[in-house]
Amino acid sequence: MNILLVGSGGREHALSWQLAQSPSCAKLYAAPGNPGIEAHAECVGVAADDIDGLIAFVKAHAIDFVVVGPEAPLVAGLADRLREIGIPVFGPSAAAARLEGSKGFTKDLCARASIPTAAYVRCTSAEEARAVLEGFAIPVVIKADGLAAGKGVIIAETREDAEAAIENMFDGAFGGAGAEVVIEEFMTGEEASFFALSDGTDVIAFGSAQDHKRVGDGDVGPNTGGMGAYSPAPVLTADLEAAVMDRIIRPTVATLAAEGTPYVGVLFAGLMLTDEGPKLIEYNCRFGDPECQVLMMRFKGDFAALLHAAATGMIAGADAPAFSHDYALTVVMAAKGYPGTPEKGGAIRGIADAEAGGVRVFHAGTARDDRTLVAAGGRVLNVTATGKSVTEAQARAYAAVDKLDFPSGFCRRDIGWREVAREAE
Ligand code: ATP
Repeated sequence: MNILLVGSGGREHALSWQLAQSPSCAKLYAAPGNPGIEAHAECVGVAADDIDGLIAFVKAHAIDFVVVGPEAPLVAGLADRLREIGIPVFGPSAAAARLEGSKGFTKDLCARASIPTAAYVRCTSAEEARAVLEGFAIPVVIKADGLAAGKGVIIAETREDAEAAIENMFDGAFGGAGAEVVIEEFMTGEEASFFALSDGTDVIAFGSAQDHKRVGDGDVGPNTGGMGAYSPAPVLTADLEAAVMDRIIRPTVATLAAEGTPYVGVLFAGLMLTDEGPKLIEYNCRFGDPECQVLMMRFKGDFAALLHAAATGMIAGADAPAFSHDYALTVVMAAKGYPGTPEKGGAIRGIADAEAGGVRVFHAGTARDDRTLVAAGGRVLNVTATGKSVTEAQARAYAAVDKLDFPSGFCRRDIGWREVAREAE
């Protein structure tokens, strides 16, 4: 098949690497792609949010199948437009993508389907939210309902902070995303990410990961899109995974199907492993970035065929996804200044050296300046290695990081620390 991959980050570089290796993939295009993706796909100058441009490209280039990386085009209805013209697409409709696009929608769905999650109340005015707040213990979680690039969640440690967050959100700090606010009970436990592939009716597990959101070593400093990840997440044991499938994932897919908005694509569940069992924090309607990079590093098989089976209602009959038993770990190299204003244009050298011995350096925010590879975004490279343990994968990833010549870049030096400490016990 001729496949179009939509997106341009490290996640899409990892997806393009697996798609291009798939026996069922004849030709791979990426819109818009990046300098790393160029090695696996023909990159075309259509932006990921240019829905009309993408539809025109699909029609003009005999595309058989579309894989959508980021959430924004899904929330904007790209998958619906493709299905209207009969093109199979891996990614949910706008209606089903509300699982990520509206936190209130997901919480209501959890309530209807008895899915374990934090207690919550949806509020549409600051006055209502202030009144609702009184019924919650501190700390309390205040969330803008819509997409806020990972910044619309405030864990308030005092009532004053909670009230300030409420004022801020209704004053438009997150634009339309904060027109509605969700107030949630604070849950404690370890967080893990779980992935599942759904064809609208059936759903299969697709692995686990843990990530590091804070910019600094020891999980301190501002939140980022993710500074590193590893897979699988050993805390998510086989028993816990089975419980997540039974109590969270299957009821979600069944409820959406019964309500006429079947979910097609990857369900990325953010979980809190509480004393009462796993609870849903949130859903994302795409692969995580950088969690995707570690999943792709371990995946074995025809990835394009698997995603196509999900897109065409055939996931139950597809080969079960096989993963290497090794661990994979990725270290994000960011441009200095990130997550504030990143330094752009810094030269990057040494990728071939870093990749010796099976390490993969996925490109996130890179560009070419003449023939030199330069930083062109906040998160720039994802240095990804495997090993028999998280400790070994970590050592190999950092050995590769040290071979890179990227003076304007930085990374955390402790990705995987929780697991490395457990392995040392
Ligand atoms: P991201 O882009 O990080 O996925 P998001 O804006 O979609 O962020 P959530 O994942 O819902 O938001 O929340 C972000 C983080 O806030 C979670 O990873 C978790 O650490 C914390 N969090 C959210 N809800 C709760 C809760 N009810 N109890 C405790 N912590 C929470």
